[in-house]
Amino acid sequence: MSSRIRLSSPHMGGGELKYIKEAIDTNWVAPVGANISNFEKDLENYLGEGNHVTALSSGTAAIHLALILAGVEKGDEVICQSLTFAASAFPILYQGAIPVFVDSERETWNMCPNYLEEAIKDRIKKGIKPKVIILVHIFGMPAKMDEIIRISKKYGIPIIEDAAEALGSEYNGQKCGTLGDFGIFSFNGNKVITTSGGGALVTKSKPLKEKTIYLATQAKDNLPYYQHSQLGFNYRMSNISAGIGRGQMEVLDGYISIRRSNNKFYYNLFKPYKFIEVFSEYNSKIKSNHWLTCILLKKDEPIEDVKRLFDLFKTNNIESKLMWKPLHMQPIFSSYSFYGNRIAESIFEQGLCLPSGSNLTKTEKETIAEVVLMHIDD
Ligand SMILES: *Cc1c(COP(=O)(O)O)cnc(C)c1O
Repeated sequence: MSSRIRLSSPHMGGGELKYIKEAIDTNWVAPVGANISNFEKDLENYLGEGNHVTALSSGTAAIHLALILAGVEKGDEVICQSLTFAASAFPILYQGAIPVFVDSERETWNMCPNYLEEAIKDRIKKGIKPKVIILVHIFGMPAKMDEIIRISKKYGIPIIEDAAEALGSEYNGQKCGTLGDFGIFSFNGNKVITTSGGGALVTKSKPLKEKTIYLATQAKDNLPYYQHSQLGFNYRMSNISAGIGRGQMEVLDGYISIRRSNNKFYYNLFKPYKFIEVFSEYNSKIKSNHWLTCILLKKDEPIEDVKRLFDLFKTNNIESKLMWKPLHMQPIFSSYSFYGNRIAESIFEQGLCLPSGSNLTKTEKETIAEVVLMHIDD
């Protein structure tokens, strides 16, 4: 039996073992050491000047700390994109704060600026000004940043950019994760690069980075004994994981080129099928890393067909994935407010994510093409 074609699996670049070995040889097998500071430097160089990076244990931890740095406390309201992975919003609940969900727009599938402004106005009218906006670059596709930053400035509400899926994506030539007041990345096993599990928080000043490290290492006051004046967390990245990250940074740009060429492959494959749309950039201002390539089934009742396609791939040992179920439709979040219409919902009903890894082989692509050409009628 041929092995399963994966959606997006870890892809080692070759340099990782050297950095792991260094950590073990020098006995820095801890959440402190040279790999961590060097991995942070690599990311800072990659993102450009003015960005201060703290390596953390996960993207979720990074969002949690960003909320704390933005001053989110119990009872505060936080606006969050609905079409995303639950980890974008879980930390809002960690803080005892209240999520307010906003629908997507059609072109980038990300937060709709119009519904965002509607939500802000309505919350202000109800007497609570939201504290923060969490927006996402879903599947690596940059959100409509000009419009969203304009609204953020107009109402004085800072932005946390959840760029967990969008390392290397660009908006107007600027890297995603550096456009908001805070940016976060994830290095989970399925992301563009991995540290086996990890994340990073991007802040705009050195003192904020120092504050992030302080919070992520149990909030120890600067004294010879352990004194704590603030609630702390154990959120720092391990020096072994950071070693993997250093190796991965050496191959990042190459991996993004491959993911982008995967998107082209699917675009050409599905071109003859009028009812299938491959999710791609809607204008040249944005560049997606195409973390996952997704398709939309343009049918009246797509749900059954999407499931049939999912099963067809599964039978043929090809892993595909149904869309993120919008958060306002999730049982755990169902009691919170939602502003929008049915955009995220319809993307959920119509969409399917396809194998998109940078380690996807030519033979695997041929297998996928064979299954599509043999079983899908145009
Ligand atoms: C993966 C992901 C996260 C969480 O990152 P972890 O490192 O897995 O904690 C958050 N938001 C989005 C959009 C993600 O895809």
